[in-house]
Amino acid sequence: MKDQFGRRIDYLRISVTDKCNLRCTYCMPVEGLEWVPRAELLTYEEITEIVRQMAAMGLSRIRLTGGEPLIRTDLPRLARMLSDVPGIEDLALSTNAVLLPRFAEELRGAGVRRVNISLDTLRRDRFEAIARRPPRFFDATLEGIEAAEAAGFDPIKINTVMMRGLNDDEFASFAAATRQRPWHVRFIELMPVGANLHLTDRFIPASEMLERVGAVGQLEPVEGPPGNGPARYFRFPGAPGTVGVITPLSHNYCDGCNRMRLTAEGRLRTCLFGDHEVDLKTPLRASGRVTDAVRTALAGKPERHYLQLGTSRGSGGLAALSEVGG
Ligand code: SAM
Ligand code: SF4
Repeated sequence: MKDQFGRRIDYLRISVTDKCNLRCTYCMPVEGLEWVPRAELLTYEEITEIVRQMAAMGLSRIRLTGGEPLIRTDLPRLARMLSDVPGIEDLALSTNAVLLPRFAEELRGAGVRRVNISLDTLRRDRFEAIARRPPRFFDATLEGIEAAEAAGFDPIKINTVMMRGLNDDEFASFAAATRQRPWHVRFIELMPVGANLHLTDRFIPASEMLERVGAVGQLEPVEGPPGNGPARYFRFPGAPGTVGVITPLSHNYCDGCNRMRLTAEGRLRTCLFGDHEVDLKTPLRASGRVTDAVRTALAGKPERHYLQLGTSRGSGGLAALSEVGG
């Protein structure tokens, strides 16, 4: 699959639900959003059929995301179905890890190889201010990361949205954790979407993040763990993990973009931001075929995103990244 700018698209991020068991302050309003009705969600069979047809067109890598993917019933069943699709070589998961103690082993057995875990603080007393859930959810998250290590997921990437005055005194403790644990911590710039504009003053540019990580100790640039994503990585000499920075705003990665997103209700979204989407569910339910709709989507994939600090205009009306899988 190639788009009109010659970019090869072989990676699909699949959102299996728009719901979540946390309410991260930068992501979702505390009361939640208007959820997609159950009948509108793609079934596991429909998701697998879309992947089968796209794999025949060149898709080879998949990430399951959400909302929180593990709150959808029996996610390992979907993982098994997708692992069996010819041409799919890599299956990964993005999760907040709260339910990983229950599912890590089974998911690993179902063919999921890599996990990205959201963790914005290492302080139990601070978790509620960011995730708006009580500290027992923090305990579950840490247990979930341990379960992921025990189940053999490799690499384990930790996604940390850094926000001024909320958690930016934790650069050193996250970086220190990579000396002890095989974590690849990625500090992520806050992206302005939907209702999170009140956090604009908390935005920290990647250049500042790198400076502040550098002040912790002697970092060397390294290749970084395998994956499909845009990040720059550094390592303390001899450490099992790495620290990286993801900079969607201050440097965009659109030139090398290799991905599309499938929303929980079956729309193929060609850019995280902007409003270009093509409905796959209607043709799938009407005729069983989505390849023409996928080609239409590919042809319209925009050259770049136009996200800007301090306004949600560039996000194309996106209420939250949880709607499209981040
Ligand atoms: N619930 C799962 C999780 O938290 O990993 C998967 C979905 S979540 C939308 C995917 C990623 O998007 C998470 O790493 C989260 O931190 C990130 N994210 C959500 N909203 C964001 C925002 N406004 N700016 C930057 N990152 C954001
Ligand atoms: Fe849920 Fe992930 Fe959004 Fe947090 S970032 S509210 S865990 S979807």
